Amino acid sequence: MASVHYTCLMIMAPTQENVVSAGAILRSGGIVGMPTETVYGLAARYDDDGAVRKIFEAKGRPADNPLIVHVASVEQAKTMVKAELHMLMELLAAHLWPGPFTMVLDKADHVSDLVSAGLPTVAVRMPNHPVALRLIEECGSPVAAPSANTSGTPSPTTAEHVIEDLGKDVFILDGGSCLIGIESTVALVTADGLTILRPGVVTAETLAQITGLPVSSNANADQRIASPGTRYRHYAPRTPMKLVETAGEVRSALAMVEQKVMVLARTDVWPEFPGLLMGSLTEHDLYAELRRADDLHVACIVVLCDGVLKGQLALMNRLRKAAGEDNDEEAGT
Ligand code: AMP
Ligand code: MG
Repeated sequence: MASVHYTCLMIMAPTQENVVSAGAILRSGGIVGMPTETVYGLAARYDDDGAVRKIFEAKGRPADNPLIVHVASVEQAKTMVKAELHMLMELLAAHLWPGPFTMVLDKADHVSDLVSAGLPTVAVRMPNHPVALRLIEECGSPVAAPSANTSGTPSPTTAEHVIEDLGKDVFILDGGSCLIGIESTVALVTADGLTILRPGVVTAETLAQITGLPVSSNANADQRIASPGTRYRHYAPRTPMKLVETAGEVRSALAMVEQKVMVLARTDVWPEFPGLLMGSLTEHDLYAELRRADDLHVACIVVLCDGVLKGQLALMNRLRKAAGEDNDEEAGT
């Protein structure tokens, strides 16, 4: 029988044997790092409060920031939410699951307040990653899984990032580099309409087309209470970041700093900055580049948010938060 006690370096290949071991860890109240198509998650059984507490402890996550419950089937998702919303959930799931879209719906009574951080709603998603889906099936129950990073730091997009943040005692299934690289779109789903609480690759237009319902965004500060996690500082490297809009502003920023700087920009504008340390500015590469800047101990990351970038709402949202331009509070998730 698979042992469920591990204490050393544990980046594990996603073999059948290792997925079975990871499932056994989850069933016995442990936590497991799992790959998804967005970012790596730190999973625990959603219905085991002791295990869910371990997630909050490992991440240093504020207790008022609810977790996303990850499911392997729409049937599992339906058990999490009130029956009145099942049809709407099924419609969205038929178009978008498995995939980078999280629905926040009125929760069923059995979903613990620890998972929902005391809110009357629960966030549910079916990840589009074969290893995550096998793990949830092996666990035998949905898993609560926030990003597998220390609260506030850039989200992990490789198994090595998870180790960097959470240490070597976490059993991590290695799925390689995450295909998308930023977190899912989160939307509050009600019979009257949807509200995007966190932008991602699934857009408001797509949601409106699928449902025929009005879709608003949670830009208004009064509404932020609906998604506590979005209040906090997020995704931030240790290195200070400066967002600018033109190549000229990049040069002015560089002139102010004598030490090494990383310029984060789309690769097609790199030729404008010969001889500089450049980082790739895409959803897929963002968090890995922020971590690389920290590893290289650069003095500052200058980010070129030109007109093209401005149209990428999800990427701009992460950049603004990482740079500390869009946070109500200092702690993070
Ligand atoms: P993370 O787990 O780090 O990807 O963050 C999950 C995001 O989903 C956070 O921004 C949470 O605030 C948000 N979230 C999770 N559950 C709920 C919920 N019941 N209501 C509103 N937002 C939620
Ligand atoms: Mg997170």
